This record gives sequence, structure tokens and C-alpha cells, in this order.
Amino acid sequence: MIQHATISDMRHWREEQRHAGRRVGFVPTMGHLHEGHLSLVDRSRDLADATVLSVFVNPTQFGPGEDFDRYPRDLERDRGLAERRGVDCLFVPLVSEMYPRAASVALDPGSLGAHLCGPLRPGHFAGVMLVVLKLLHIVEPDIAVFGRKDAQQAIILGRMVDDLNLEVQLDVAPTVRESDGLALSSRNAYLTPDERRAAAAIPRALDAGHRAYREGATEPETVVAAVRRELENEQLMRVEYIDAVDPETLAPARRVQDRTVLVLAARVGATRLIDNVVLGEGTASDVFLDG
Ligand code: AMP
Repeated sequence: MIQHATISDMRHWREEQRHAGRRVGFVPTMGHLHEGHLSLVDRSRDLADATVLSVFVNPTQFGPGEDFDRYPRDLERDRGLAERRGVDCLFVPLVSEMYPRAASVALDPGSLGAHLCGPLRPGHFAGVMLVVLKLLHIVEPDIAVFGRKDAQQAIILGRMVDDLNLEVQLDVAPTVRESDGLALSSRNAYLTPDERRAAAAIPRALDAGHRAYREGATEPETVVAAVRRELENEQLMRVEYIDAVDPETLAPARRVQDRTVLVLAARVGATRLIDNVVLGEGTASDVFLDG
């Protein structure tokens, strides 16, 4: 595995792949790699001939008071995991390489940013779009792989690729979960043992919502209420939102149906976690790790 820190070295490597006729797959991450990230690497390796994984904790997607400074970082560990999983090129730029000065251009997710995490994290999706667009210009991948765990992000980026006619195919991969259903996240590292136990109520609650749908509920309120009930008794949990939304517009669904996305954000202690299931599908296509 080769490691590059500068944009020019990264571009040079990319050119070599082009000359060799290799299709390049790309997995952007903020590091502290876990099995969720590595499943995206597997997916990239299935779809392309060479895989780039970036590790970059992107300051522009963190708001004031968010966890940019304490976000978990461990490049040595990430290097080992990436290499063992078959990553060909690790791209680890410094903040000064990506942002030699504050960008003047800004991207706007439009109405897709008006829902769910958008209003709660002002500027977050603009920051995600900016860094992903820059990374796509630098790496010029044939395929880029994102996780469905961050459903709103994947939908916003899919729309950005469409709207801007970017020459990349986006692939959205299933959520990887612990054996009790908790979606893997770098932020799970913040949880105390008690909070970790409480966090398991999140996938249980989404399951309850999915069950209500399977049993015939058609009103979003009924499905959302089934989710909320599961979380009511969790003292350590503060729900930010539970919603059933349209998979294209992210607007609240008027009726729930197959492909409606049931989304949830909650704080467990001080840690903010998000998760979702696609109705009609539930966690059937997700990956569960052994206990
Ligand atoms: P992050 O490092 O949190 O920015 O995540 C990098 C990529 O990994 C994003 O496309 C995420 O959606 C994806 N990802 C994060 N957690 C999971 C998970 N549990 N399962 C699948 N993909 C994930």
C-alpha cells in the first residue's frame, strides 16, 4: 500500500492507474477505521481494480462546539487495517494541504439540507459537499463508495453528482452493525459502558418501527410512535428526531411505503448518534458482526 499526503502525488498516482487501464474505486473517511469503513473497501475492491482510501478529519463539516478537536485519530492503526484489507493507496492530506486558505466558494445542499440533520448542524452538509467535491476532483475515481448509515449525506452527495454532471458512479453500501444491532460509528468510542448499553435501543426502536409498518401501519405517525415508545425509558437518551421521509426529497412522507426511510438522531450522554432503516427492507440487507 502506498501513502500520499500531497494533492500532486495523489494525482500522479491516479494518472499511473489511468495509463495502466485500471478502474479506481474511492472510499472517503475521517479515519478511526472500523468494519463499516472496511466493508466499503470490500465493495470498492469488488467494483474497481485499485482502491484509494482517504483519511481526513474535515474541519469544514464540524460546527463550533462540535467534536473536531477530540474526534478519534489513530493513523498507525488505520494504516494497518487499510493495508490488510487490500487498500492500494492511502491518501492522508493535512488540513493545510486541503485548505491552504478558507474556501471562498460554498456549496449548498438546497432543500435536501432543510430536513433532519440539516437544521441541527448548520453548515455541516455544505462542508461535506465541499470536501467530497474536492476529493473527487483530486482522486478522479470511477466509483466512490458511501455508507447508507449516513443516509442524508449519501442522498445529498448523489444529488450533487447528478446536478454537477460529475463523472463518477456512486455506490451506497449497507450498514454494518454490532451483534446487538448498534451501527458501527467512530463516535461509538465516546460511549461509556452504560451509554453503550443504552445505545442498543436505537436499532431496537427502528426495528419496532419497521415491524409496525410490516403489520400494516400506513400513517407515518404510527410508525414514528412505535419507534419512540422503545426509547421512552432510556434515561441516557435524548431523541433529536425520529422521522419517516421520502428517499429522494428527504421531506416527511405523507404515507409510509416501501423505500420510505425511517431515520433517527439521538444523543446518548454527550454523543450524537444517527441511524436509519429503509421500510420494506429493514436490516435484512445490513451486515451484523459476530458477538
Ligand atoms: P466517516 O469516517 O464517519 O466520515 O465515514 C466514512 C464513510 O463510512 C461514510 O460513507 C459513512 O457512511 C460510512 N460508514 C460509517 N459507518 C458505517 C457503517 N456502520 N456501515 C457502513 N458504512 C459506514
